[in-house]
Amino acid sequence: MNKLKENNSILLIYTGGTIGMIENASTGALEAFNFQHLEEHFPELKDLGSQIDCVQFDPPMDSSEMGPDSWKKIVRIIAENYHMYSGFVVLHGTDTMAYTASALSFMLENLNKPVILTGSQLPIGVLRTDGKENLITAIEIAAAKDEKGFPIVPEVCIFFENDLLRGNRTCKANVDNFNAFRSYNYSPLAHAGVSIRYDLSQIYYPVSPRPLKPHYLLDRNVAILKIFPGISLQVVSTILNIPDLKGVILETFGSGNAPGQEWFLNEIKAAVDRGLVIVNVSQCRAGCVEMSRYETGRKLLEVGVVSGYDSTTECAVTKLMFLFGHGMTTDAVIEHLNCSLIGEVSIRQQR
Ligand code: ASP
Repeated sequence: MNKLKENNSILLIYTGGTIGMIENASTGALEAFNFQHLEEHFPELKDLGSQIDCVQFDPPMDSSEMGPDSWKKIVRIIAENYHMYSGFVVLHGTDTMAYTASALSFMLENLNKPVILTGSQLPIGVLRTDGKENLITAIEIAAAKDEKGFPIVPEVCIFFENDLLRGNRTCKANVDNFNAFRSYNYSPLAHAGVSIRYDLSQIYYPVSPRPLKPHYLLDRNVAILKIFPGISLQVVSTILNIPDLKGVILETFGSGNAPGQEWFLNEIKAAVDRGLVIVNVSQCRAGCVEMSRYETGRKLLEVGVVSGYDSTTECAVTKLMFLFGHGMTTDAVIEHLNCSLIGEVSIRQQR
């Protein structure tokens, strides 16, 4: 393993989740691990050559409880400490890590330092834990610099098991496996085997470095409507008529298809006419929405549904919260959905 440069310092942000549990040697019960004492438990971390400081959420949160308020808390910690650290490692429960990573990618505009999220399937304090490897490699990636001293991965990413994935492209795909995350529509940014191999062509590098612009405005008036064969008018109508609702992720079949019945299309059209933004994201994890491929998709296009391209649902929902949070009009939101803000969809970059 390459030794890292001396001047590296990493801020570890422990938010909660399985990774932060340790077995009490006398009782066998799982208790919260104190990351302030990380190096006492793992003296080998010193070999990484990084100064590691830690802040913890108090109390730690199961990631099922997380949402806009906790995302803002993470953003605030990063923004307040941005100039003092070379990179950030966010320890997070796995259940909603993909949502947090997506949200952070939008909220940390002009990011030019690594923000690496990781966690584990088994607590860090049990013998077979995957947490230790995940943590050590995440720290190594957060501290990695090129020959000129620039960070190799200035992005929000998830590192899990062997792969470094763009955060806003990920989903949790496995409840049990150590290899729990996937990024079906964007290849890994790095693979960690005997050494860490970066695929530099996959990594986003800002054209001209600008100061970090943290964002704290998110609008929760969004919903996900997952269609299924036999879905009723009542379900569709109830969701689309939620008071103050601004945007809906319509989870469709295959390449973006939905029932072609008149009642369904009428409900969608009425919602679009009321000013709702309806984004078409496929229930298939791999591939891209192409509404003009089939008649059933084309009808959605005709009534004003917007393509989510190859976005994950996790990313689309946080992107809508972010765009509406900034008070954008329906047209402006649609315009921003039709371009990539930070590599979240495989279409042209906004900048
Ligand atoms: N329920 C836990 C969480 O997401 C699971 C984990 O940490 O993996 O917070």
